Amino acid sequence: MRSIVSRVFPVQRHVVLVHGGAGLVPEASREAHARGCLAAARAGNLVLTRGGSALDAACEAVRVLEDDPSFNAGHGACLDETGHLALDAAVMDGASLAAGAVACLPAFANPVQIARKLLDVGGPVLLAGEGAELFAKTHGFVRADEAAMITTVARERLAEAKATGESAGFAGGTVGAVARDTSGHVAAATSTGGKTNKAKGRIGDSPLVGAGTYADDDEGAASGTGDGEAFIRLMLARHATLGLARGEDEAAKLTIAHLGDRLRALGGVILVSKEGRASFARNTVTMGYAVVGDSLEESGI
Ligand code: ASP
Repeated sequence: MRSIVSRVFPVQRHVVLVHGGAGLVPEASREAHARGCLAAARAGNLVLTRGGSALDAACEAVRVLEDDPSFNAGHGACLDETGHLALDAAVMDGASLAAGAVACLPAFANPVQIARKLLDVGGPVLLAGEGAELFAKTHGFVRADEAAMITTVARERLAEAKATGESAGFAGGTVGAVARDTSGHVAAATSTGGKTNKAKGRIGDSPLVGAGTYADDDEGAASGTGDGEAFIRLMLARHATLGLARGEDEAAKLTIAHLGDRLRALGGVILVSKEGRASFARNTVTMGYAVVGDSLEESGI
C-alpha cells in the first residue's frame, strides 16, 4: 500500500478546495490538471467574495472542472462497458442538509447543475437514468451531443480496458469541491464519469450522500475520489466529517488510512471544517488540487 500524502491548510474566513481526481495522471497531463484545479478554485472563491454561499461556490467550481476535458466529469468523462457516458454527481448544503444527486445520467454538459436543481426543488434526493434525464429536460436542461463530450483519451482508455480484459478501474480525474463561506456554512459537490469500462447501470460513491459527498455545518464538508465501491462500503465522506466534528485536523489523513487499512483500497478526500480549515489526503500517486481562500492560494498534484 502506498504511503499517504496529506496537507492541512491554515484557517480561512472563506475558502474553496477542489480535487481533480485521485489516480495516476501521466506526467504530461499533470500541469493541465493543476492549472484546471486552480481555475476552478478561483471561480468558486470569486462566488464567495461576491457574497455567494458555500453551496453556490462548490457548484461553480465543479461546473468549471466539468467543462475542462482534462477531467473525468462532464466533457471528458470516462465510458461505461457499452461505450456511453453514464454520469454521476451530487451536491450537499451543510446549512440545511439539503442534497441533490443524479446517477447514470446520459450526456448533459453539467450534471452538477442538474443535481443542484434537484436540491433546490426539494423532492427526491437522488434520481437515476431515464428519471434523471426527464427531470433535467423538464427543468430546461438540454441533452448534449454525446460524441462531442467524449474525448479521444476516454475512447482509448475503454479500448485498452477491453483489450486487457481489465475489470473496471478508476481512471482518475473525478472532480469535487468543498467550500466554507463567511457565514460559516459549508457545502460539497462531486461529479464523475465513474470508472472506465464500468458495468451498465453501475453507480459509484460520488452521487451517494455520505459515501462520496457530504456536508453538515455541525461537522464540515467532504468530497471523495477513488475506488467508489470501497468508499460506499466505508461511508467514507461521512467518516471524514465525523473526524472533523471530533476536532481532528488530520481527519483526511486518518480517513485515507482507514480506506487503506480496512479495504486495501485507493483514493483521496478533500475536507473543509466548519471553522474554515481545508485539508486533503490521498494514497494514490497523484491527485490534482487547488485551494483558494482569503489569504491562501495554492495548487498542485
Ligand atoms: N469514485 C469514482 C467512482 O468510483 C471514481 C473516481 O473517483 O475516480 O465512481
